[in-house]
Amino acid sequence: MSKRSLQQVITPLATSDGGGVKLLRSLGQQQTLRWDPFLMLDEFSSTHAEDYIAGFPDHPHRGFETVTYMLDGHMLHRDHLGHQGHLRSGSAQWMSAGRGIIHSEMPQQDSGRMRGFQLWINLPAKDKMQPAAYLDIDPEQIPLIALSQGGQLKIIAGHVTVDQQQLAGPIQTQSTELLFLDVRLPPATQLTLPLKQTDNALVYPYEGPLVIASETESGLLETHQAGLLSAGDSLTLQAGSEASAFLLLAGKPLREPVVQHGPFVMNSREEIEQAIADYRNGRFV
Ligand code: FE
Repeated sequence: MSKRSLQQVITPLATSDGGGVKLLRSLGQQQTLRWDPFLMLDEFSSTHAEDYIAGFPDHPHRGFETVTYMLDGHMLHRDHLGHQGHLRSGSAQWMSAGRGIIHSEMPQQDSGRMRGFQLWINLPAKDKMQPAAYLDIDPEQIPLIALSQGGQLKIIAGHVTVDQQQLAGPIQTQSTELLFLDVRLPPATQLTLPLKQTDNALVYPYEGPLVIASETESGLLETHQAGLLSAGDSLTLQAGSEASAFLLLAGKPLREPVVQHGPFVMNSREEIEQAIADYRNGRFV
């Protein structure tokens, strides 16, 4: 067994996107801050309507996948394929932009808390021009288990074995084998999880700090910091004097060149120019 340790800490950047939604961006705040196959990780969290009410009006994507996971609030997804998805507290959506999707994500509330995450996951060259696809996941479809030491674990994507139980999430990505967990640990407890040795993994505590404990050292992550992990087949996480809620994300690296222009992510400059031309000329989707 080789334990994973904390390799790099990314402090998020407060920014805004879409129509002007305030968010915290960790991965993707610069084009050098990626963690193959992950391109971007955003957290949005506010009780002030002016921070989210403008939503994300119609915009395009090509060449990657997204997972959106809502903790609180209500947004409506609509796309050019005719999909409509209600993102409510505890629900998720998976979207593969493939060769092209045009969609909007608009708040369905004008007060109260809006809180959640959007993760961008790259697609390999062979899948970038596949037709777009979409999956809307209700909270009841997301497996949740009570952990033996206290706390809970939800699996949104991939497979994991915990407390001798094998769990599978409602999202299974073919090329990157995404693992997407939402875990809550009570104060002064720890959890060890198996991971695939060479997957790239990160943890993102969104409530309370979290410690990554390896054989030789402990690495501390403050709330809202993304922690990139070394390779290894096991990961030990510890909550300190406060409870900790965090995302654990892992995926198979693609090891391909990445050329990004806003919402288009391809392998070469030429393919980006093609995406821009296709979008301008109405040949996008
Ligand atoms: Fe989008």
